[in-house]
Amino acid sequence: MIIAVDGPTASGKGTIAKAIAAHFGLPHLDTGLLYRAVGRQVQLNGGDPDDPADALAGCQFPDDLLGDPILRSEETGGYASRVSIHPAVRLALYERQRAFATQPGGAVLDGRDIGTVIAPEADVKLFITASVQERARRRWLEMQDREIELPLIEIERDIVARDARDINRKDAPLRAAPDALVIDTTSCNREQAIEIAIEAVETALR
Ligand code: C5P
Repeated sequence: MIIAVDGPTASGKGTIAKAIAAHFGLPHLDTGLLYRAVGRQVQLNGGDPDDPADALAGCQFPDDLLGDPILRSEETGGYASRVSIHPAVRLALYERQRAFATQPGGAVLDGRDIGTVIAPEADVKLFITASVQERARRRWLEMQDREIELPLIEIERDIVARDARDINRKDAPLRAAPDALVIDTTSCNREQAIEIAIEAVETALR
């Protein structure tokens, strides 16, 4: 059983995907982390994330980089968003994601193009969304927890820029698959969003 969870940054898709995986006893892959590792490796190489060759070179990251907490930083997120535009980078990460999705017993993957490109045959596809303002507020709260001070307006600007890059790129743009269930979490708290998503999966599997 493959469950695809797509959506824009800070929509709650990661939290939801993790909860679904735990509920159904399935392995989970946060595919954004792979793009973040590529972005970080480009930065470590002193490369330019907008240059296709530099971005592709970043795909040769060591596996232990995936455990580095710096991947969660806003700066690395920005690099990830820029390297993810290049078709060669997407192709280089395809097999790894595809192998995870098709492992025996199934899997839950979250990202931007799971239901459209990585696993179009997924048994259930969710597209998680929320307003830009609410996503910025959540990111701000998260940063407060980590004692990082950044004005809300700056976070909002960054989210708008990342959305635009994800939606407008030619290769695998961010969009809901035609057969995806769209869940808007703008007015949900974490628990409500998880409950709605698990119920949606159960209904879809019936
Ligand atoms: O989800 P997360 O914010 O960690 O993803 C970081 C960046 O990686 C996103 O801004 C997006 O551009 C890219 N990404 C992607 N396709 C995926 C997952 C992430 O292009 N499946």
